[in-house]
Amino acid sequence: MAVDLHLHSTASDGTLRPAEIIAKAHEIGLTAVALTDHDSVAGIQEALTESINLSLTFIPGLEMSSEYGEKDIHILGYFIDYTQVRLIEALVSLRAARVDRGEKMVEKLAELGLHISFSEVEACACGGALGRPHVAQIMVKQGLVANISEAFERFIGRGGPAYVSKYVLTTAQIIDLIHRAGGVASLAHPGPSGVDEPLLRLLQESGLDAVEVWHTDHSPKQTRYFLELADCLGLMVTGGSDCHGFGKTRGFVLGSLDIPDAIIEPLRIRAANFC
Ligand code: AMP
Ligand code: ZN
Ligand code: FE
Ligand code: FE
Repeated sequence: MAVDLHLHSTASDGTLRPAEIIAKAHEIGLTAVALTDHDSVAGIQEALTESINLSLTFIPGLEMSSEYGEKDIHILGYFIDYTQVRLIEALVSLRAARVDRGEKMVEKLAELGLHISFSEVEACACGGALGRPHVAQIMVKQGLVANISEAFERFIGRGGPAYVSKYVLTTAQIIDLIHRAGGVASLAHPGPSGVDEPLLRLLQESGLDAVEVWHTDHSPKQTRYFLELADCLGLMVTGGSDCHGFGKTRGFVLGSLDIPDAIIEPLRIRAANFC
């Protein structure tokens, strides 16, 4: 029985509403899912309600960004108390910083002669966590680039002429925030993030509980490598497609990986111990 523990909705940069993702997951026969929006838990209540309606196991989650040198490090939180004021306040600040950064990106693009309106970018984000994909989408809409990938490659990807870094917490702060909200912390897509064994050990010293072994952008070799490394270091394992809905670079990848449901119980037990 397959599960998918890495999904984005309109609460961040996904294209489907939380309830629509849950309905799709049920339709394709997944038994459990987690919603992991960037810096937001705003979609969880809706997803949970639909999961209960459809008898699907639902794990409240989120994805938070950090950096290590030049590397983008993303941490997933699972079984979090999404009503915790401390957590919600931290996420509100991070989303506000995302709005400021979005405005700066629009300014940088204008300096390059590429004019898009920030209010259109904001409208595209629909009140969710504003990110580069929303900027990219408006650039496509305006005909400034052919597709989202081109926007990242030529302008807003790391090192690009309109790239603006995001205000982020340190990995230790994120892991601590997740733990204090009763959740477990997993390192998202370590392959594309360029995480090696020494860095994984460092993150483990900061309290990391798990590593995302199955991910759409992992080759079979990377999946085997991180599975073995997690086993060797005594880290739990997680997995998810990182589906952002339709019309995104990766396509509709929900449930496309064969992720065993046995990964959930150890996470649940560890989270219960944090409460
Ligand atoms: P942000 O959190 O605003 O920095 O945006 C990061 C998000 O942009 C990621 O979660 C992906 O959804 C998306 N993304 C990152 N790199 C690319 C890329 N090269 N092409 C398309 N989407 C990307
Ligand atoms: Zn995203
Ligand atoms: Fe990510
Ligand atoms: Fe993600």
